[in-house]
Amino acid sequence: MSFLSNKKILITGMLSNRSLAYGIARAMSAQGAELAFTYQHVTVKDRVATLAKEFNSELLFECDVADDNQIDKVFEDLPWDKFDGLVHSIAFAPDSAWTSPSYIESVTRSNFAVAQDISAYSLSALAKAGKSKLSTTSSIQALSYMGAVKAVPGYNVMGIAKASLEASIRYLANDLGPLGIRVNGISAGPHKTLATARSPIIDRSLAHYRAYSPLRRNVTIDEVGNVAAFLSSDLASAVTGEITYVDAGYNILSVNTI
Ligand code: NAD
Repeated sequence: MSFLSNKKILITGMLSNRSLAYGIARAMSAQGAELAFTYQHVTVKDRVATLAKEFNSELLFECDVADDNQIDKVFEDLPWDKFDGLVHSIAFAPDSAWTSPSYIESVTRSNFAVAQDISAYSLSALAKAGKSKLSTTSSIQALSYMGAVKAVPGYNVMGIAKASLEASIRYLANDLGPLGIRVNGISAGPHKTLATARSPIIDRSLAHYRAYSPLRRNVTIDEVGNVAAFLSSDLASAVTGEITYVDAGYNILSVNTI
């Protein structure tokens, strides 16, 4: 059964074939969804276009989420009267956020503000701009990480931004629920992508999940994609405001003493 047949879904944040958004696009396309994509800047347009072709899509829109005009233009230019899903797969913090494994040593007013703006506020900005075109059975979802709810050494200011993102999911779910729009988050286990390659903790995190998660392995982008496809579908029609962990079970653990 193709449970996303006739669904039109706009995906942000696909930059490489390692991106979580690429795994999400692959799973959604396999379930019959028609896809459109945004890209951050003209310099990455061709590489995103090449990936989009794999999913039979030529619908590409430039959108730096720091720019409200670009956000508005995406929804003006989107050639769909109504659409059924929006995937937010975007995060950024300046390099200064990673200068120390210590949050307090590395946090600055400036890197805190940028991380909040790009990684958290952008979800609300996209939802606000896109809401009049979202259908009455539609879904918005965003990618988060366990650093939103636990202090993960080295994740630093991005953990604060993810906490804000997860709170935004709950507020948006409550506001948009009466319109039939569901809003959910996926908290994914670590995966090496262009974004996380800049983090000093990615290799140790991957090793830690392999050693200690209940499933004793890392997660794949296809496993993240499958859950995103389910959450976007009518199979999840009563699920909203939730954060679903796709992390091989790591988040249930306390200290492993064995
Ligand atoms: P990625 O590098 O493939 O994707 C990050 C995307 O963010 C890129 O497409 C980039 O262009 C986009 N972006 C950054 N700044 C932007 C801006 N100003 N405007 C528009 N787009 C912008 O990395 P990824 O790991 O696939 O990240 C996608 C999402 O998944 C992020 O929210 C990330 O925090 C989340 N996540 C990743 C992991 C992981 O370990 N990879 C784990 C949990 C959650």
